[in-house]
Amino acid sequence: MQFQPIFNKNKRPILIAGPCSAETEEQVLSTAKGLKDHNIDLFRAGIWKPRTRPGAFEGIGSPGLSWLQRVKEETGLKVCTEVATDEHVEQALKHGIDVFWIGARTTVNPFSVQEIADALAGTDMPVIVKNPVNPDYKLWVGAIERLYSAGIRKIAAIHRGFSTYGDSKYRNVPRWQMAIDLMQEFPDLEIICDISHICGRREILAETAQKAYELNFDGLMVEVHPNPTEAWSDAAQQITPKEFGEMISSLIRRRISSNDPDYLKTIENFRQRIDDIDEEIIYLIAQRMQLVREIGYVKKDKNIAIFQLERWRALAEACRNRAEKNELSQQFVDLFLEAIHQEGIDQQEQIINGIRLASLENR
Ligand code: PEP
Ligand code: MN
Repeated sequence: MQFQPIFNKNKRPILIAGPCSAETEEQVLSTAKGLKDHNIDLFRAGIWKPRTRPGAFEGIGSPGLSWLQRVKEETGLKVCTEVATDEHVEQALKHGIDVFWIGARTTVNPFSVQEIADALAGTDMPVIVKNPVNPDYKLWVGAIERLYSAGIRKIAAIHRGFSTYGDSKYRNVPRWQMAIDLMQEFPDLEIICDISHICGRREILAETAQKAYELNFDGLMVEVHPNPTEAWSDAAQQITPKEFGEMISSLIRRRISSNDPDYLKTIENFRQRIDDIDEEIIYLIAQRMQLVREIGYVKKDKNIAIFQLERWRALAEACRNRAEKNELSQQFVDLFLEAIHQEGIDQQEQIINGIRLASLENR
């Protein structure tokens, strides 16, 4: 797939801002006027709101589309809204909406995405695709492919985090690596970070925006409301236009790279050492797996179960202690242990169930 840019290639970061929902004509216009001076590229407002539970404000519906037209007329800003059905597409096209976005609860459903793609066929509408609510990379790419197959070329993506059960710092947990994978696979796709839906609360917006800058996202989507605490949806995560301006100007912009010879020499030196260590790590893990397989043969001989709770507990505890002393996070060490343990179990399983032949082990 080869994409065309939706936004001006020479202006980074791309800034998309506006209220979660269009509530009243006055609220929409006052937000847009407040944002106009903050150099935003696109004004957002949800007209149809996909709410997790019934009973919440489900959006103002089509009457709000003419408010967005007024935003265009009075501020010159381009406007975008969320579409989830062919009916939404038809209405929004009629009202001259400049860009559409597909929400996380829609990206998850190929039937809905296909319906939108079919309704858009033959137009050159720009569409931004949010990640699905669950961390399924293929589903995200699949939605982009459906639009592409319908002839849409101006496509961008938004990372808005993923639903989770239980306590978390975030409302929707970011999986940065998934966005990085998307950047790597599609270098010409514009990828924006929706910090508002990731955070769910305004207190951590700025640090998350800075993180998005560090990871070279092309831009940010931020929910902005003239009176955030009174917002009809997502009140805890919205900020005022003034706070938006302050946050954006407080962020530190990073250069993608540098040609400075000192920088290049230093970084090359460190990278060489890292490559050497990575090689050693893989070698050591392979050695470890060799021992795990030896144990597999012994267990097979004596008909012993693969998983040994006590041994696993002791090993995990020792690793966590070592990790702490070496300034590694618990989260990292748990992920690492889980991966290594899973691989060990898989390899022993192959041995015990006779899939792996002893001859492979030079025995
Ligand atoms: C929104 O942008 O207001 C929205 C509903 O977002 P998401 O689809 O990311 O939940
Ligand atoms: Mn919202």
